[in-house]
Amino acid sequence: MEGEERMSTYRVKVTIRCNRCGEKFVLRGRKERGQIDTGFKQCLCSNTDDFEFEEQAL
Ligand SMILES: [Zn+2]
Repeated sequence: MEGEERMSTYRVKVTIRCNRCGEKFVLRGRKERGQIDTGFKQCLCSNTDDFEFEEQAL
């Protein structure tokens, strides 16, 4: 089951760009079943849901 676990969860580096103010954040997180989890909650401008995610290989 080791291989299966590696396929469903892996570490990623994510660039998050705010679509409201244009601020960029570079975070490390993990991707699980297609969902990226970085712990990122909101931008400096209080935006919580309007972002562009760009995933990069770590
Ligand atoms: Zn913002």
